[in-house]
Amino acid sequence: MAVKYHIHTKMMASGDHEVHVEGCDWCPPDDQLCCVGKFETSKQAMESAKKIYPDANGCHHCMPEHYHLP
Ligand SMILES: [Zn+2]
Repeated sequence: MAVKYHIHTKMMASGDHEVHVEGCDWCPPDDQLCCVGKFETSKQAMESAKKIYPDANGCHHCMPEHYHLP
């Protein structure tokens, strides 16, 4: 099942933009979110997110497999 992903439009203190699965508890408010789209896998979501922000990083909570420390 495809899941919707969002990217945080504000840069984090660590200098990256976090990607979240829709409904994540750590998701920022709607006005700080940009919709990435619906994807079958988080890997596809990260690839698309990086076209919006090349420094996209997975949320440590909802996308731990794509979370990288700076
Ligand atoms: Zn998240």
